[in-house]
Amino acid sequence: MQTSNESLFARAQQTTPGGVNSPVRAFRSVGGTPRFITRAQGPYFWDAEDKRYIDYIGSWGPAIVGHAHPDVVKAVQLAAENGLSFGAPTEAEIVMAEEIIKLVPSIEQIRLVSSGTEATMSALRLARGATGRDKIIKFEGCYHGHADSLLVKAGSGLLTFGNPTSAGVPEDFAKHTLVLDYNNIEQLEEAFKAAGDEIACVIVEPVAGNMNLVRATPEFLQAMRRLCTQYGAILIFDEVMSGFRVALGGAQALFGITPDLTALGKVIGGGLPVAAFGGRADIMKHLAPLGGVYQAGTLSGNPVTVAAGLATLKIIQQAGFYEKLGAQTKKLVQGLSAAAKSAGVKFCGDSVGGMFGLYFADQIPASYAAVMTGDKARFNVFFHKMLDAGVYLAPSAFEAGFVSAQHDDAIIEQTVAAAREAFAV
Ligand code: PMP
Repeated sequence: MQTSNESLFARAQQTTPGGVNSPVRAFRSVGGTPRFITRAQGPYFWDAEDKRYIDYIGSWGPAIVGHAHPDVVKAVQLAAENGLSFGAPTEAEIVMAEEIIKLVPSIEQIRLVSSGTEATMSALRLARGATGRDKIIKFEGCYHGHADSLLVKAGSGLLTFGNPTSAGVPEDFAKHTLVLDYNNIEQLEEAFKAAGDEIACVIVEPVAGNMNLVRATPEFLQAMRRLCTQYGAILIFDEVMSGFRVALGGAQALFGITPDLTALGKVIGGGLPVAAFGGRADIMKHLAPLGGVYQAGTLSGNPVTVAAGLATLKIIQQAGFYEKLGAQTKKLVQGLSAAAKSAGVKFCGDSVGGMFGLYFADQIPASYAAVMTGDKARFNVFFHKMLDAGVYLAPSAFEAGFVSAQHDDAIIEQTVAAAREAFAV
């Protein structure tokens, strides 16, 4: 029997819950059969039936230089030949730290980990350890990985602490997390007034990419900075997605706001598992082995993954990289918007650097509640028509999309042509 996506999906479900190793891959939101990928090159990947797709998820962000970039592949091969993991320090880790510190000035010291979840979880523990406070503030619609304190939604009242969004998260953890509306300055001020001296930190995606794409307003981020300073809370920018994606220095460079701690991931590993958290040296010194906040990792700073990261960081520093990436992403969004307009479809789009949002709505949303008013059924139809036409968008109406440096004009035009058909239902 020829291998098909369908047969692989059936087989996968025998051994793995839902057949996937991360839920969004299962196509639950859009329905249908997930595509099992066999290989990828530049802006494309191919599925088990050898169908080619223009890829707009880029491994959910990491593939910013395009898939299997020769410089990255070469660096990985060379590193692998010298051993896969040592559990002892290497010079490459120093170079990686120096490189990130050079590019993100708010980071004075950094620690490498293996996933975004580890980075945010560790940043939270550090913030709590450094301040001696338990409570944290997060915002509805922001995703920061799956640590217990962060799988929490708003409580019943404005300033009541949150409820778990996942079974298995104790109420006792959730009660330390206050969940507020994104871009709502008044609410944030009220929360600090009510409990400011108990708040260890505020954690935010400065460009939110886990409720489709939602930009923070500069005023919202400035208010956050001011209130954290005033009340002695630590401001954590979760730039796992936006870091090296919206600009070379991340969202903090775009907005000109200095967080105390930053979580990074995705792009800094170039497709291999590297993430990091870092920031003010006086906070980072609380980490073991110097201080009392424990954090560790068998594969942290792994030589092969760090080699992929360093090779990627080198490419993205080439002159004009972000100008071109931003321009191509904008071209895509404008092309899709024009196609929707001529088909009379209620649609708009937005982009920041190399990430974009597509909304089946009249207006670009500024909050989770606004995102939720989008026409999900219409998105699902669009998604499948695009998929059939060989364009792979995020399989959910509530995720951002990603463009790589390999998405040239011809690829964008091909995508827009497919969208013209897909909008004309
Ligand atoms: N923070 C943000 C902003 C993310 O987008 C993600 C993953 N999409 C994470 C944290 C968690 O990263 P990981 O999946 O590597 O654990």
